[in-house]
Parts: sequence; C-alpha cells; structure tokens
Amino acid sequence: MSAPRPKPLPDVKAPDTAGFYEAAKRHSLVVQKCNNCGEMRFPPLPICSNCWSSDQDWAEIEPTGTVWSWVVYHRALEPSFADEIPYAVGRVKTTAGPTFTVRLNIPIEEIEIDMPVTATFKDVNDEVSLLEFSKA
Ligand SMILES: [Zn+2]
Repeated sequence: MSAPRPKPLPDVKAPDTAGFYEAAKRHSLVVQKCNNCGEMRFPPLPICSNCWSSDQDWAEIEPTGTVWSWVVYHRALEPSFADEIPYAVGRVKTTAGPTFTVRLNIPIEEIEIDMPVTATFKDVNDEVSLLEFSKA
C-alpha cells in the first residue's frame, strides 16, 4: 500500500487571492472592497461587478455570519480527505454581506439554517491557514 496522498492546498501566492491568504495567516477575515463604489465581494474578481472599476483593496470584516445552507460529504471525492468523512461544507453569509463556501467546523448534527457562526482559521503549515466557520 502506498503512502497517503497529501491534501491539496491553495496557491497562497496567486495574485488574485494572495491578500486573502496573507490575512488568513494573521487570522483576519478580509474581502475585496471596491474603492469607487464601496461594494464588498468574495471571491475576488479583477473588476467590480457593481461599477466595473478595477480600483480595489482588501478590507477586514467582522468574522461573524450565519449558515445559509450546507451539505455533508459522505464520500471522499478527493481521496486524501477520506479520513475526515463525513464533514460539512456550508454557505455562510457574513454580517458584512459577502458569502463564503467553506468548511464548517461544527458537529454535523448541530448545524442549522441561520445558525450564528464565527470565522476560525486552521493553521496547516507556516504559509497556509485555511478559513473555516465554527459555532459562535
Ligand atoms: Zn464598484
């Protein structure tokens, strides 16, 4: 039997998302904010979907929100996650507005629609911290 394959990790230096992962390393939740109209968005885009401006920065937001929906993975579509089955991935609407599709670090039987949650960060290695949401 071969050694288990390592879990895939995000490219934390990719230009579009580097700012997000730099903040995650500090356990800070950020989204893109348009400097022209103030629209906040995630995932990041090269231009604002509201006013089409490409002038943007990262803005820290309150690390709070509610569960909008979720699914439970009972099969490891990626074999390296087999040891974590079953686990939940949710759609979280942050208090600031932007939504995240993200791992829920909550016992599956306790997850409910509109449940208050708070952002937490899982330090995977010296470069990568992954966003999760936990019970508030
Ligand atoms: Zn805009």
